[in-house]
Amino acid sequence: MSFFHSAKPFIIAGPCSAETREQVLATAAEVATLGVQLFRAGVWKPRTRPGSFEGNGQSALEWLMEAKELYNIKYTIEVAEPQHIELALQYKADAIWIGARTTVNPFQVQRLADALVGVDIPVMVKNPVNPDIELWMGAIERIEKAGIKHVAAIHRGFSGYSPAAGYRNQPNWPIPIELKRRRPELAIICDPSHITGKRELIAEASQKALDMHFDGLMIETHLNPDKAWSDARQQVTPARLREILSGLMHRDEFTDDMSSQVKLEYLRQLMDTIDMEIIDLIAKRMDISGQIGDVKTACNMTTYQPSRWREIVESTGARAEEKDLSKDFIIAVYEKIHHESIRMQLSNRARAENAQPKQ
Ligand code: PEP
Ligand code: MN
Repeated sequence: MSFFHSAKPFIIAGPCSAETREQVLATAAEVATLGVQLFRAGVWKPRTRPGSFEGNGQSALEWLMEAKELYNIKYTIEVAEPQHIELALQYKADAIWIGARTTVNPFQVQRLADALVGVDIPVMVKNPVNPDIELWMGAIERIEKAGIKHVAAIHRGFSGYSPAAGYRNQPNWPIPIELKRRRPELAIICDPSHITGKRELIAEASQKALDMHFDGLMIETHLNPDKAWSDARQQVTPARLREILSGLMHRDEFTDDMSSQVKLEYLRQLMDTIDMEIIDLIAKRMDISGQIGDVKTACNMTTYQPSRWREIVESTGARAEEKDLSKDFIIAVYEKIHHESIRMQLSNRARAENAQPKQ
């Protein structure tokens, strides 16, 4: 069994940064009473702008090793350089993670992977800052190819100009869900601290993650969050973490309750039938779209007509509202359909025009 499946959910807690020896020891003492699987603390901090606190490096590892021995707690740190891995091993770290700003760089991930050959330590890979599932998977594969047996992914959201719901990062939930579909055996841990960026939103984001079948949570925890040297807004106290953890509702993928199983099966049959009808209707729509394209080609009209697209946005948006559906959602669906329609009309046009003898 994977190290990261040893508890359900697998919980990682601790400060964003290891600030002082006293802070590390006092926080570890509290976090150890919560029964979490790993204590976390940043030792080298990748900061967006120079001049911010960049971590205490090797001295912080001394404090973490001391905390591990004193409170019998396993710990994890972020590594970004092969030398960080060497020191993590020397100071008996129990797991390491690769940060979002490192996952984006395949050269650097490969350097870390090379440093991990022949090493037996669990490794977590945060998603890259940009929403690219292939890059995330690629980093995970590089670590696995180095021979690391216990690998997990951490979802910490994606950078963007307008994060949803006042969050610091876009959660973009379909990406980790797709990762789980492709790699069902891989543990995925959610980091609601970096996703939300706000301590008051951590409980709801954590529950959402468990409802979406995540295997664990990484929650930044600080004795005096407002005074934290990094990520002050998003850290919670150990007491608050205890409340958050005890308030979580645990869900299972399946149920033993026969009548619910039967009901679910019935509703899914209905839904599957509707899905087939939707596909039949899309095929009919495409057929008509092909005929429309032929008229445009024959009359030398543009394939894409902005006024027509505006009309579709208005009419489908209005219908969505009548049916109590999200207007944005229906328009997003129609963007895909319309885009495919235009692509098909363009390729028919190219075929028809190439077939014509040149004047
Ligand atoms: C962190 O966990 O403190 C951190 C730097 O995270 P990320 O790599 O997600 O930005
Ligand atoms: Mn942080």
